[in-house]
Amino acid sequence: MVDRLVNSEANARRVHNVEQCFGSSGQPLGVPGRVLVGEGVLTKICRKKPKPRQFFLFNDALVYGNIIIHKKKYNKQHILPLEDVKLENVNDDGNLRNGWKIINPRKSFVVYAATATEKKEWMAHIRKCVDDLLLQRGVRKSSKTDSPVWVPDSEAKNCMHCSKSEFSMVNRRHHCRHCGIVACNSCTSKRWLLPLQSSKPIRVCLTCYQKLSREASQNNVTRKFSVNAGGDEKASSGDDSSDDEDDEGKEREGDVAATEAEQLAIHDAHFQSYD
Ligand SMILES: [Zn+2]
Ligand SMILES: [Zn+2]
Repeated sequence: MVDRLVNSEANARRVHNVEQCFGSSGQPLGVPGRVLVGEGVLTKICRKKPKPRQFFLFNDALVYGNIIIHKKKYNKQHILPLEDVKLENVNDDGNLRNGWKIINPRKSFVVYAATATEKKEWMAHIRKCVDDLLLQRGVRKSSKTDSPVWVPDSEAKNCMHCSKSEFSMVNRRHHCRHCGIVACNSCTSKRWLLPLQSSKPIRVCLTCYQKLSREASQNNVTRKFSVNAGGDEKASSGDDSSDDEDDEGKEREGDVAATEAEQLAIHDAHFQSYD
């Protein structure tokens, strides 16, 4: 199906349209051979709460962003190359239904579709694109280290490392970039270089620090970084608010619009495939 679409004018128009919707906040998307396979709104589990995000499935990448005006304007573009993407089912749990994990080395997360059919469609289309891509490029499945799915803040009242420390306005939550748990500042006082996630050493929990140190010494690699608890948060790349950018402040305008878009979206946000 994709072959037929590669050179089609309709596809070029669609890709161009996505690019326009992201405006200057996004990357150019008109790569030769790229096909827009489908699109739709999915609910992404973010640090503070679930939020609607517009997703575009291309034959080589999954692109998503925040909705400012549904079908017209998006920002905070993320591009995940499909060769590194893996999917994992998430079982229904109360109101959280039709979800799955999108796992990759840069940023892993959970999304939910509106219906079971939509979930099935999304997962099948993504898997098909990944398989076709790997076949076409003759690559095996990626061996890069995947990033963890972050545990949402609301799921941790206490530090998941020491279990003692109770979170509050003063005792902030932090995420281990290696395993994704929510832990207190002293239990995440160490930094480690995880190059697929950041060019600077980032926050890890003490368990992961020990594990990574052990592995590094076995492999004779020096990637240790130690930062004292209570150090300069602003200067540290491990600051939670600085690199979970699509979940934090700075996007008030987008968020308000997204709430309206969310309501609008119910009718025409379902997965739309172009094959
Ligand atoms: Zn702790
Ligand atoms: Zn950890």
